[in-house]
Amino acid sequence: MPVLFLGHGSPMNAIEDNAYRRSWQALGGEFGGKWPTPQLILCVSAHWLTQGWWLTGMAQPKTIHDFGGFPKALFEQQYPAPGFPAAAREISELVRQPGSARPLSLDLQDWGLDHGAWAVLKPMFPQATIPVLQLSMDYSRPPSEHYALGQQLKVLRERGVLIVGSGNVVHNLRTLQMGTPSHQAYDWALEFDQSIARYLQQGDFAALQDFQKLGAVAQQAHPSHEHLLPLLYCAGAVAADEVPQFFNASFQAASISMRSVLWP
Ligand code: ZN
Repeated sequence: MPVLFLGHGSPMNAIEDNAYRRSWQALGGEFGGKWPTPQLILCVSAHWLTQGWWLTGMAQPKTIHDFGGFPKALFEQQYPAPGFPAAAREISELVRQPGSARPLSLDLQDWGLDHGAWAVLKPMFPQATIPVLQLSMDYSRPPSEHYALGQQLKVLRERGVLIVGSGNVVHNLRTLQMGTPSHQAYDWALEFDQSIARYLQQGDFAALQDFQKLGAVAQQAHPSHEHLLPLLYCAGAVAADEVPQFFNASFQAASISMRSVLWP
């Protein structure tokens, strides 16, 4: 299976007809042709932060509308993809939490699918027939541990699991400038976005994990870095010599990079 990192940006991308949503629809259409239909989707979203690492283990994960101030049409969205409790149990034993080496904790009722997951998966797989598990992130842990957990996910690719990271390469909500054309962004946003793209192209995952060394530029690109972390899981799940393909390499509101990465 390929590995995907999707820049999700505004929740409105889930229902608005725009280039981002169209790219997700087109990509979803390649499964069952170019690639087999996934047996399971494992999604790491920027929006599920926990103490320790958790995996959804319920049979019917609920659709979570974890945002405010958007139109009713967005709150009415449902993504009724099933869970896969047996696979969740198996994966929770297989993948160990960095640091403690404990199995992943299984969440049987609290979470479900947040908008980081369903906003991209619904356009990709509108039938919602492929089971989806969501994996949480322990934000208190260093980037290297997120990458290390991603490395453990690599074996799942041979078992028909599509790994989807959903976040943004640049994500600063304090500096949004609505209406800015998608090819324009702040200098620091462009610089950070390009540095990350270069690390990915070079397979330099050590530099990727050390993104905070970019200093002020990294601080501006990620006042908090939960939207970048899903990319570390994706990088962990690929070999350094797998060649990434970029798409949606543009910006929303000057400070959200929509850059997305496909390792085919
Ligand atoms: Zn988000």
